[in-house]
Amino acid sequence: MTAFDLATVSEHETVPAEVEDEEEIPTDHPRYTDLVTRHRIERGVEKGITHLQGMHAEGRGSAFDYLLGEETTPTADEAERAAAAQLLLAEKPVLSINGNVAALVPAEMVALADAVDADLEVNLFNRTPERIDAIVSHLREHGATDVKGIEADARIPNLEHERAKVDAEGIYAADVVLVPLEDGDRAEALEAMGKTEIVIDLNPLSRSPQVADVPIVDNIVRAVPNITAHAEALEGDGASDADLEAIVDAFDREAALEDAEARIRSGL
Ligand code: ATP
Repeated sequence: MTAFDLATVSEHETVPAEVEDEEEIPTDHPRYTDLVTRHRIERGVEKGITHLQGMHAEGRGSAFDYLLGEETTPTADEAERAAAAQLLLAEKPVLSINGNVAALVPAEMVALADAVDADLEVNLFNRTPERIDAIVSHLREHGATDVKGIEADARIPNLEHERAKVDAEGIYAADVVLVPLEDGDRAEALEAMGKTEIVIDLNPLSRSPQVADVPIVDNIVRAVPNITAHAEALEGDGASDADLEAIVDAFDREAALEDAEARIRSGL
């Protein structure tokens, strides 16, 4: 049997392709997470939060997730713990939010920002004032108080105008940035600025995880709550800076990328 029980899938063939509310998706459906994810992206597009291209990105991610078995692998869990340690060690951590991230995990990003004392910054590939406003409002509806990225008064060097815009007091000044589902050009430009980058991306061959200090090959809907849980556990255990540094040092980024690729290619 593959990761999914086909007999169970056929029992749920009556689930409509279009649902008004994600509550209508049966929680026991074997593809529940994937259906919820698709629904959130569709709603994101309708609300002007997510760009239409975000749907293609989601489709690519969904295919990789299927091949990974739609679960957090032990290596991804290690990466998520290293990410938590790295964020707790940071002087100025910033969590970057694009249209897919806002649609998929708004409350979870707010919770992570609270857990590691980080700023949230809206950072868009297809930047328009309307989309920035829609995302900021959406994050506020999910508990965010201070959201950066509106002023965009600084530039990432070596990127064209709109994609380079960031807040001088946000991503520009950050030492550690979490950039989920990031475009490869910007991930490379942030790396060239000397940032410590944590990337969440289901494709281990994509340029963003390839340049990341901590590449997390996992679905963002599982990864972000798990980073928060690790951060809270480390804090609860009273981890010292030396303990956190040991976790970061023990993490092997090459091995993590190789393990994810091997799992996708072999299906094991
Ligand atoms: P490059 O990084 O080389 O520019 P790309 O053009 O494929 O690669 P983008 O479209 O900019 O990348 O970013 C989308 C990335 O996000 C894809 O690699 C996709 O697999 C990943 N992705 C999409 N949905 C999710 C998700 N829910 N969780 C994690 N990763 C996801």
